[in-house]
Amino acid sequence: MICVRCLRDTARKVAEAPDRSGVWEVYYCKRCNYSWRSTEEEQITVLEKRDPEFQLDQEDLESLSSPNPIPPLEKK
Ligand SMILES: [Zn+2]
Repeated sequence: MICVRCLRDTARKVAEAPDRSGVWEVYYCKRCNYSWRSTEEEQITVLEKRDPEFQLDQEDLESLSSPNPIPPLEKK
């Protein structure tokens, strides 16, 4: 399925309501590491209503740095 954030076909359903009623589902994109629920507001789940500020393209993904770089070990 298409990821709502990076627009690639790299998302899939990873969870659903235990009674299989379809009342809620959770999706995850392995490319941009984004997850969302089917029950979230349309500004999250509908591509046309999403804020472009929160979308990611290939350039954005390549320029991301590690959020918490590991410092070198201290020698004692
Ligand atoms: Zn994605």
